[in-house]
Amino acid sequence: MDNKRANKLGIALVGLGKYSSGQLAPALNETIHCYLAGIVTGTPEKADKWKKKYDVPEKNIYNYSNFDQINDNPDIDIIYIVLPNAMHREYVVRAALAGKHVICEKPMALTVAECDEMIEACKKANRLLSIGYRLHFEPHNVEMMRLGRDKVFGGIKRMIAEDGLAEVEGWRLDKGLAGGGPLMDVGIYCVQGVRYTTGVEPIAVTAKEGKKKDRKRFRDIEESLTWQMEMPDGLMAECKTSYSEELNLLRAEGEKGWFELSPAYEYEGIKGRTSNGNMKFPQINQQARQMDDFADAILNNRPTPVPGEMGRQDVKILNAIYEAMQTGTRIVINN
Ligand code: NDP
Repeated sequence: MDNKRANKLGIALVGLGKYSSGQLAPALNETIHCYLAGIVTGTPEKADKWKKKYDVPEKNIYNYSNFDQINDNPDIDIIYIVLPNAMHREYVVRAALAGKHVICEKPMALTVAECDEMIEACKKANRLLSIGYRLHFEPHNVEMMRLGRDKVFGGIKRMIAEDGLAEVEGWRLDKGLAGGGPLMDVGIYCVQGVRYTTGVEPIAVTAKEGKKKDRKRFRDIEESLTWQMEMPDGLMAECKTSYSEELNLLRAEGEKGWFELSPAYEYEGIKGRTSNGNMKFPQINQQARQMDDFADAILNNRPTPVPGEMGRQDVKILNAIYEAMQTGTRIVINN
């Protein structure tokens, strides 16, 4: 049956890089409530390739100059921004002005002021805005939320969250496009993990930049970073991120036991353990679930569990961590 008649919402992916081609487009073959309806790319060869591979009609292919014309295309309901971080603000605002619902990849933007502008633009257009926080739909991570928030192992006293990559290239090393180093890119998962496991917000942060092994590559950005988040009730979160070391852990230590995921943030292969034994949950397609949930939210006129406000709070915390790193002082976060 025709996708529109099947009541599926059409998604246009903006920026056909690794994440769009490796994860999002294949996931859109597994979604129930949405499908790949269009693409926006600055690379004509990619347009040709995607047109054939995913059967995208010519009229649903845009570039960055004619992107705004998408406003009169009824095939496109949702625009998914998968561009380098510094471009998120502009394209979310343009998508909202085009009258479309928007998903924006993490980190939402570089500053809180940018996030405010994006939230405001979507509100004004009466469109939903969500952030690509796929782990909110992943069963092991959802279990961390339950164990933490329901205090199944008592109140959490300490959390450890680490996310790092051993190898990165391209715009991620360019502060102008990335907004920072591994903290913006993968450290954000630690901030998210601590927030969704505890259900509470950091009060203050301290941070220390790691020693650079490669000063040339990491001229403008941190190569690695450790930071602490003071949470309510004496809970401390110890976090680490890096662009020269593989790290992947989310661990909570409660009054009556512990629970953890390692790896915690991967697309697949997430493993969980508690002081009572191993977690047993299925591996699912996180991106398919995430996009289906957003489409379902639109179709049923309900809020998304991963809204722009959540992305804004993370950006606020990330900026406080950078301030703590640069000043060597404890930075209080006004919630
Ligand atoms: P890539 O570099 O692989 O792709 C980015 C794409 O953006 C490019 O291929 C290009 O597409 C387009 N682009 C437009 N202008 C520029 C520019 N000046 N420099 C570079 N690219 C440009 O990045 P990713 O796909 O890995 O990341 C994109 C976004 O998705 C980031 O915000 C990242 O944080 C996020 N992400 C999220 C993940 C998650 O798990 N939620 C995982 C990976 C990334 P084109 O040629 O079509 O114009």
